[in-house]
Amino acid sequence: MDDGKPRKKILVLGDYGVGKTSLIKQCINEEFDDQHLTTLGVNIALKEISMRFGGEKADIDVELELWDIAGNKGIADIKREFYKDGDGAIIIADLTKENNIIDCENWIKTTYQIIGKIPFIFVGNKYDLVSEDDLNMEKIQELASRYNTPFILASAKFGDNTNEAFHEIAQKVA
Ligand code: GDP
Ligand code: MG
Repeated sequence: MDDGKPRKKILVLGDYGVGKTSLIKQCINEEFDDQHLTTLGVNIALKEISMRFGGEKADIDVELELWDIAGNKGIADIKREFYKDGDGAIIIADLTKENNIIDCENWIKTTYQIIGKIPFIFVGNKYDLVSEDDLNMEKIQELASRYNTPFILASAKFGDNTNEAFHEIAQKVA
């Protein structure tokens, strides 16, 4: 049903096991639409975002179409169709793996190469498994400031900051 909300395609990107599917599940309360496009090896979930700012700035109503690569696929395997018409991206890093924070930059480079520049945010997931001391905040802040985009520390397991992440990307694409 068309309820008039603009729909935006969000690419959910990150290495295998970083928590892409878990973050989406946490965000949409286990509601999954995986009937569509299984031949392309992706799941698509829908999430409505409504934000009210009391007149300070324009309210946001948007429906996010979250594209999640199913299974274990490397960057090279990913089809063009996955990226096509992407309005924004969530790039996910696994905070328990130090190199993953740097490596996750490859996902946005790949995206830029395939479809050009789109708005995106970084999410550092599995925050529940790391202590402040483990985190290389210098690397995280450097990456965030270089791309001028937030790097949100989140836990898909406990729901910490997961809504914030989806609201942040909604603001960027709305
Ligand atoms: P994907 O391959 O990127 O879709 O990753 P999954 O969502 O399948 O998650 C990979 C593994 O990490 C699973 O065993 C999840 O239960 C686990 N996981 C995902 N997010 C978190 C998190 O925030 N905290 C913890 N402790 N485990 C997580
Ligand atoms: Mg997955």
